Amino acid sequence: VKTQGRHGYCFYSPEMSQRSVASQRIENVLRHALAHGELSLQYQPKVDAALGHIVGAEALLRLQVEGKDAFLPDQFIPVAEDTGLIVSIGTWALREACVQARHWQREGRPIPISVNVSPLQIQYAGFYERLDSILCETGLDPALLELELTERTVMSGGDGTIRLLRRIRQRGVRLSLDDFGTGYSSLSYLKHFPVDALKIDRAFVRDITQDPETAAITSAIIAMARSLNKDVIAEGVETELQSTFLREAGCSQMQGFLFGAPMSADALHQRLVEQVA
Ligand code: C2E
Ligand code: CA
Ligand code: CA
Ligand code: CA
Repeated sequence: VKTQGRHGYCFYSPEMSQRSVASQRIENVLRHALAHGELSLQYQPKVDAALGHIVGAEALLRLQVEGKDAFLPDQFIPVAEDTGLIVSIGTWALREACVQARHWQREGRPIPISVNVSPLQIQYAGFYERLDSILCETGLDPALLELELTERTVMSGGDGTIRLLRRIRQRGVRLSLDDFGTGYSSLSYLKHFPVDALKIDRAFVRDITQDPETAAITSAIIAMARSLNKDVIAEGVETELQSTFLREAGCSQMQGFLFGAPMSADALHQRLVEQVA
């Protein structure tokens, strides 16, 4: 329904209709990108909190159309989720990351790769079978793959989702709970979630050195997660102060601009080579 000026029927506010035009445009770009190979992945290092060396990498989607500014995931992932395109895009990202990780495995520099997974992907029939066939096709050691799920994902499908997550873990793939602290975040749920690791959201990390309450909550989350035998990783670490605080609070891994921004596969490989040398 079109906006018909001041006195006509107006189902959308001007901002809303603008937003839907923008999201229609992004949807078209996404469809084109999927068909023409314009999606890519960048890899952001995860480092050991105590030793500082790279112990993994998170795969992050990039969308660059020639001659245009890059689209940011925060712009296009929501559109992909609304339109269902996330299922194909997510499958593409998972396969691409596994192919890359398998390549590094073959070269004798195995490095665990984490891939983000949206709620719709998990709920869509056949997720396990697709994951299994990607692992078989690529020959990747499942221990080198980790899926990052949000609380939204884990909570969305009830018992069915929990069963699915158990199967995935039995296949040898690690699971981590992303953006921890921003959602429902009841620590008591944690004991029901079959996950190996928790990822403390950037929003907490940003404030820990300024806001004593955030610092206290973050320390408590880390301590409790550790007592439940989960690894804890902090994201968005930008300063030495944040890093020191998080290490002393018991974080096992860290990720953020302080250690490296998302980079090409080649650049990450270079970092790994230098680290050994
Ligand atoms: P996320 O999973 O929480 O990923 C972390 C985001 O923080 C990434 O943004 C990363 O580039 C950014 N970041 C990393 N270190 C720092 C830092 O030190 N400071 C600051 N300010 N930012 C930092 P990016 O790449 O723009 O991705 C945004 C979100 O898009 C991701 O948040 C994730 O939810 C989603 N996303 C990205 N790739 C995928 C994908 O393949 N599948 C799905 N479903 N979602 C994805
Ligand atoms: Ca993530
Ligand atoms: Ca986050
Ligand atoms: Ca996220």
